[in-house]
Amino acid sequence: MNDIYFVDIHTHSCNIDEEVIAVRNIGQELEFTNSSGSNFFSAGLHPWHLKLPEENNVLLSLVREKTKIDRVFVGETGLDKRCTTDFEEQKRIFEAQAIIAEKNNRPIIIHCIRAYNEVLAIYKKLNPKMTWIFHAYNGSIEMTRQLAAENFMFSFGEYLFLPGIKAIESFKYLPLNKIFFETDESRESVKQMYKQGALLKKISNNEFKKAVWHNFSQIVNKFITDF
Ligand SMILES: [Zn+2]
Repeated sequence: MNDIYFVDIHTHSCNIDEEVIAVRNIGQELEFTNSSGSNFFSAGLHPWHLKLPEENNVLLSLVREKTKIDRVFVGETGLDKRCTTDFEEQKRIFEAQAIIAEKNNRPIIIHCIRAYNEVLAIYKKLNPKMTWIFHAYNGSIEMTRQLAAENFMFSFGEYLFLPGIKAIESFKYLPLNKIFFETDESRESVKQMYKQGALLKKISNNEFKKAVWHNFSQIVNKFITDF
């Protein structure tokens, strides 16, 4: 693609802005409704919604099927120590999806709450070639340094507007080639996130737009050859 778009790497709503390319999370509904040609999707099992292992296995096979479709990332999936689903099962399902992503050359959108060390341990075990993207990233600066040394990327949204939150220190620390923006469930547009990001990084909006577009092209080129 020759044009440069804004990228919303993780959203639950339908993108109607023609200047934005969005990765819309279809979660475990696993249905592509209201799709528009320019958008990408993510399909995966969220740690909040896990069921019994047998049921999860059925859903996993659906994720495996969906991930063979052209414009589909794996996610959001991940680990969450704050929710009540069994943590061992969370790890099993996350790892299984990471393997699906690897086999189909897809990036993963990761939901991670208080479990960065566990995600890193699975990463080191699998040694993936694909990019793993933390959405709504809010790790400590020490954790950010460790993760940034590996093939992780970091997506930021509403947290950029909360003064004093850990995410801002990490955001300022990270190089542009590790950063994405997202709206997730926010009502703000992703352009607002770029604007706030550019303010915090003291660079122009346009420089950020170019850098993030480059990041997106790089990860998408791994599974769409003519992108
Ligand atoms: Zn989300």
